[in-house]
Amino acid sequence: MDVLDSDIKYLPSVGPRRAELFGKELGIFTFRDLIYFFPFRYVDRSRFYAISEIDSATAYIQLRGVIRDMRIVGAQRGKRLVAVLSDDTGSIDLVFFQGIKWVSERIKTGKEYIVFGKPSVFNGEINMVHPEIDEVSSARPGTGAMTGVYPSTEHLKNSMVTNKVIGKLQAAVWEKCADSIRETLPAWLISDKGLCSLREALHNIHFPKDVQSLAKAQQRLKFEELFYLQLSLLKQKNVRMRASNGLVFKRLGDAFNDTYNNLKFPLTGAQKRVLKEIRADVTSGRQMNRLLEGDVGSGKTLVAILSALQAIDNGYQACIMAPTEVLAEQHYRGVGKFVNTEKVRCALLTGSTKTKERREIYAGLEDGSIDLVFGTHALIEDKVKFAALGLAVIDEQHRFGVEQRSRLWSKSETVPHILVMTATPIPRTLAMTLFGDLDISVIDELPPGRKPVVTKHVGENHRQKVYDFMRRQIDAGRQVFVVYPLIKESEKMDYENLESGYLAITEEFKPPKYVTAVVHGQQTTENKAHDMALFVEGKAQILVATSVIEVGVDIPNASVMVIESAERFGLSQLHQLRGRVGRGSAESYCILMTGYKLSKESRQRIEIMCRTTDGFELAEADLRMRGPGDFEGTRQSGLAIDLHIADLAKDNPVLADARETASRVLENDPLLTAPGNRILVDNLAKLKTEIKDYSNIS
Ligand code: ADP
Ligand code: MG
Repeated sequence: MDVLDSDIKYLPSVGPRRAELFGKELGIFTFRDLIYFFPFRYVDRSRFYAISEIDSATAYIQLRGVIRDMRIVGAQRGKRLVAVLSDDTGSIDLVFFQGIKWVSERIKTGKEYIVFGKPSVFNGEINMVHPEIDEVSSARPGTGAMTGVYPSTEHLKNSMVTNKVIGKLQAAVWEKCADSIRETLPAWLISDKGLCSLREALHNIHFPKDVQSLAKAQQRLKFEELFYLQLSLLKQKNVRMRASNGLVFKRLGDAFNDTYNNLKFPLTGAQKRVLKEIRADVTSGRQMNRLLEGDVGSGKTLVAILSALQAIDNGYQACIMAPTEVLAEQHYRGVGKFVNTEKVRCALLTGSTKTKERREIYAGLEDGSIDLVFGTHALIEDKVKFAALGLAVIDEQHRFGVEQRSRLWSKSETVPHILVMTATPIPRTLAMTLFGDLDISVIDELPPGRKPVVTKHVGENHRQKVYDFMRRQIDAGRQVFVVYPLIKESEKMDYENLESGYLAITEEFKPPKYVTAVVHGQQTTENKAHDMALFVEGKAQILVATSVIEVGVDIPNASVMVIESAERFGLSQLHQLRGRVGRGSAESYCILMTGYKLSKESRQRIEIMCRTTDGFELAEADLRMRGPGDFEGTRQSGLAIDLHIADLAKDNPVLADARETASRVLENDPLLTAPGNRILVDNLAKLKTEIKDYSNIS
């Protein structure tokens, strides 16, 4: 057996209990997993700070001093151990909420220690919570001046698996495995690119002796990671481009022409260009796999419908799937604006479609009597079968899990063309990584007459001014959205906020002169539909809602978007929400309400929102701000690939190089049969199992 596959429970001081913890918390089961568990940053422990030079902004630092005093303060949940550390320049409190017994048994007053941690501010005083404490004599294993800091979790910290423990384990596992590390890149590539060997890279990523050796290790590992990803994506794309099983929509018939010739407005240049790109795909004999990016309000739906009509003109069906019922309904209701629904038979299938109707729709899809179906996740349920699905459109794709998407194309004997649409602009680097095998179209032009939304940040204390402003807008005939955050963990509290906000607004905007509709996830479908209709039909001037209205809702008369607790939304969400207004010809406004205490990140988000309405600029900023190691952020964007080390926000040049190299390799050796590329095939196979879900996209 490969020693790298050994269970980590065989490492010194791990044992079955900790091994289980590592598995659960970090997904680390084997020696290999541990070696590939990289520090997310490094700390230079080469110097000691003087206590007097600490300010709250100081990052992780190292102190050296004597523990002067130790006592337990507080009771129950506030109970903590406070140790006072002093050096020649001053003293600082070291605070422990957990492991009090453990710490107090090991730390002695009057003794000198090396303390490592991040200063924070509590009640105006600087202290350090849960620092690492070392005896001055104890040498750290395997580290020079640089120390890696590993990602951790609350559970691990509570179980005393500190960074130091992980560092020791890395040293132990390295000793056992160093000689078993096998190179994963071909020799020609390593020398071509001047990379270091895998063994050297893996050693130096954990135990760099200086900044240079670390940089070299990172370069090699990032390149490798992105290279294999690109190789895999481009290879899949090759396969797709070579196959000739794509449906051909040769005819442009009545369905398409009736709609196209009766449009009440000219298509924008960008819409026309994208339609041409799609037309080329669906007549090429190859399966289309296209991502359509376009800012909110750029007219993607119409492009989707015009594409669907091409399928229908050629005897195939089409489906347009949306992430929420509100959206699917809006698509369905809106289709009549463009399409003669007497001739093109449309249906709507969502979770709340009644059983009887649902059965009819199932039957209509299966016997081909329904041409175009709109819907939600209900479209991917097992019972749904198509007679001949020609095109599947997925709107606002980032809301769908990858598996859900992949289920769509197993619904019909025919292999449908795929059009994925998103209003969250995806930065190029991310798009290349996520959708490296998809073709990308961009609508970079809004229909004429749209004005950028004026965006303002308003503090809680100016709420009355906001109400006054709303009233002026409403009295001028406009409508207003008021949106509250909805975050899973605190759902109950969020609804309470929304409820009290709703009360405050009806107090301020009294019926019957003003009508306020309310829409949120805990309502019955009927109530939701009722209130939504009030607003859509202009009978209600105000819509109080949770972020269910985030994507797609199109109400041209709405000119004000008030976002409550705006600091709790991410940038792309804020941008989506703002996109709900500014669709008509009136000047529109987005008001970001926040409390006073804002984190640095929230403040940055709000500032950039006020500064620009350019979705791509926001997306780039978003990616930059979220930075590396944000597993959550990666998941949100639908990324099914775990990037260990490459950082899409920063590693643009490496990504471009990796992609270029991968594409050159495949050009010279499309099937990777050359002996020198054997190693590539082997490693690709391993990668495949890791990104299995993702490969289903094509
Ligand atoms: P998206 O889905 O890209 O956010 P929509 O498809 O909802 O945008 O379009 C927003 C609005 O713009 C809709 O009311 C649509 O009918 C309208 N629209 C689409 N294309 C044009 C165009 N070329 N000129 C004017 N209005 C358009
Ligand atoms: Mg849309």
